[in-house]
Amino acid sequence: MIVLVINCGSSSIKYQLLDMKGDDVYDLLAKGLVEKIGLPDSNLVHKPSGKEPYKLVCPIPDHKVGIKVVLDALVDPSHGVLKSFDDIEAVGHRIVQGADFFSGSTLVDEDVISKIEICCDFAPLHNPAHLLGIRAISNVLPDVPQVVTFDTAFHQTMQPQAYMYALPYEYYTKYRVRRYGAHGTSHQYVSARGAKVCGLDLENSKIITCHMGNGSSITAVQNGKCVDTSMGFTPLEGMIMGTRCGNIDANVVPYLMKKENLTPDQMTDIMNKKSGFLGLSGKTSDMRDMCDLAAGGDERAKIVLKKVVLDTVKNIGAYAAEMNGVDLLVFTAGIGENNPWLRKAICDNLTYLGVKIDDEVNENAHGDVIFSTPDSKVKVALIPTNEELVIARDTMRIVSEMDN
Ligand code: ADP
Repeated sequence: MIVLVINCGSSSIKYQLLDMKGDDVYDLLAKGLVEKIGLPDSNLVHKPSGKEPYKLVCPIPDHKVGIKVVLDALVDPSHGVLKSFDDIEAVGHRIVQGADFFSGSTLVDEDVISKIEICCDFAPLHNPAHLLGIRAISNVLPDVPQVVTFDTAFHQTMQPQAYMYALPYEYYTKYRVRRYGAHGTSHQYVSARGAKVCGLDLENSKIITCHMGNGSSITAVQNGKCVDTSMGFTPLEGMIMGTRCGNIDANVVPYLMKKENLTPDQMTDIMNKKSGFLGLSGKTSDMRDMCDLAAGGDERAKIVLKKVVLDTVKNIGAYAAEMNGVDLLVFTAGIGENNPWLRKAICDNLTYLGVKIDDEVNENAHGDVIFSTPDSKVKVALIPTNEELVIARDTMRIVSEMDN
């Protein structure tokens, strides 16, 4: 089944076209990115497998045009990979926020769209863009079934003690204020893949997954189900991130708002876009730059790196306690996959759990790699995340069920 996977951001569209032959058997036909939608230098970078990449700079005023540009690239005689739009059998969309409406992927219909609309309140930058993507596809490919996969769905198995805030209960019933988590598709993929790579029975396992990128979250997965995760009502909660502050005493918020005469929107912007690595270092939100700064003696960059390690080991310790043990620790995403120094610094703090890593394997790890030693009590693995594959699998399964 040929599945187009789409991830619409507020000014971007990421896509992958996969020929799904089985759950783990597929060909990546093409992938690409539309950027700067609505800006003068809007453009497409299209990477067809086995052909030269293709770049197009052209006016892309909105998502509707963006989707059209992507579809045209896919069927173009020179850099395309399909004969016609008819070859696309299904479309799967990544949706950031499904709140407690969705505990799994689902076929798009009017009811699903109206629930994604309600969730716009909790993800004002992302969900409206996802809806634009769904509508744009309906416009051009009205007969192609569309499936939505939610970043929050995997976390819906959390129990109330993990997802409730100890605020007056009425705010939960009136406004749905609770913890939803994020990066669920990634945590789901790397926990299942990690169990397979390590020969563990997923249904009978305790796994902690560390998704560390620009946004970072850590999840406790017991018997294949999420029991707790570090992000909350929004992706702001949890550990320090590129530009997000992570956990702070909530009283800091009204205190600073009064002192600096800030509106709620300004405060939200500071906590989400001007804090984290960027706010603390005053220089960069990028981990590679942070490592260079720290190596050059920058004291604040050194604090950032130490705080990343501290926040990570605190979460791992909490989740090991919560599950009363841990069999496997997984690292993934931009930082988790590419920074062996950080992985080592974190693991060196976990010897009390019986974690022992092979420094050389860690240093050279690429792809799915177990880098704990054979006598380590906890297996430790690097598993590159693949959210698009989960979306394509779910899309294939749901559309096939529809056909039967
Ligand atoms: P997003 O959350 O936007 O998907 P990514 O998962 O791409 O982010 O992660 C981005 C982070 O990963 C950045 O801080 C970047 O510096 C870091 N990163 C990417 N590649 C490397 C690398 N080779 N070495 C160290 N850090 C890296």
